[in-house]
Amino acid sequence: MKRIGGLNRVKAMSSLDRFLIISVVLLASVFPVELFPNTGPVPRGGDGQFSGKQGQVVVVTVPDLKDATSVKGQFLGRTVTLFPNPAAGGTGYIGLLGIDLQDEPGAHELTIDAQLGERARHFSYQVLVVKEKFAVEHLKLPKDKVDLDEKAAARWKAEQEQVRKALAEESAMRLWQAGFIEPVHGKRTGIFGSVRIMNGQPRNPHNGEDIGAPMGTDVMASNDGVVRLVVDHIFSGRGIFVDHGLGLYSMYFHLSDVLVNEGDLVRAGQVIGKVGATGRATGPHLHWGMKVNGARVNPYALLELPFPQNPSAARPMLAAPAIPAQTDSAVTAVGSDTR
Ligand SMILES: [Zn+2]
Repeated sequence: MKRIGGLNRVKAMSSLDRFLIISVVLLASVFPVELFPNTGPVPRGGDGQFSGKQGQVVVVTVPDLKDATSVKGQFLGRTVTLFPNPAAGGTGYIGLLGIDLQDEPGAHELTIDAQLGERARHFSYQVLVVKEKFAVEHLKLPKDKVDLDEKAAARWKAEQEQVRKALAEESAMRLWQAGFIEPVHGKRTGIFGSVRIMNGQPRNPHNGEDIGAPMGTDVMASNDGVVRLVVDHIFSGRGIFVDHGLGLYSMYFHLSDVLVNEGDLVRAGQVIGKVGATGRATGPHLHWGMKVNGARVNPYALLELPFPQNPSAARPMLAAPAIPAQTDSAVTAVGSDTR
């Protein structure tokens, strides 16, 4: 960490590019993986060291391990549950490590503890968090849309607590399978991780992607899971939280219609709601978010996962959803939220 701290000072003096070049030169010998940010969106993992950009998901594998009763990792205070790797012939474990969009760039330790009956095994890995260059968005909105009065602020706080509680419990069973689905095909109108400056005031970074689509467009579940929470919240409007197991959650906000109830089992591709503009939204769009063990990650990172298919757990093929015609006049380009 100390070495990275030194590099951060270099960064402060010069450009991000220079920082990355110096990082690569110094760290290439330590991390036998590709560190250049332009080598593609998929973070590379290996049997030793891992790296990923802020907001990405890293596939963590532990080889030569079998018949464990539990395999759990710890990374920056978050717990990662691993499961038998379907591609490793029963002798390895695999898990998804989310890099939060605000995790500190640099090298951090990932510890993994496996329980094999009475025996315990401990593993330690280095994970290099690579800085992502997030966009800055300036939004100008009516004052009452940005500043919350006392009553609204109290409501917002209670809603946040409700979500925190609902998502605090990690379902022990993995319901998701390889092959995540984009819930709506449309134009991305709000970029994940972007720093939002509203009426000159910096706000929390945007923790999902906004997909502009006409009002009433079908919203599909991104993967198999259980509907954990259905809400009507001040910012997110009508929203659905789906629990995919092992700490993975997907979120669908600003819906005009919700077609599922809490506790429902949903399949990947199932229509669970309709695009709307409820809550604080400038137009119809879906705010799609993903959390991996508490880390806010880019939902599109899940679509790009190099995750091995499990042939024994294949699910029926779902018909490819039709891509709606681009009708820009039908507000596909203006929807985004104002959180
Ligand atoms: Zn959004």
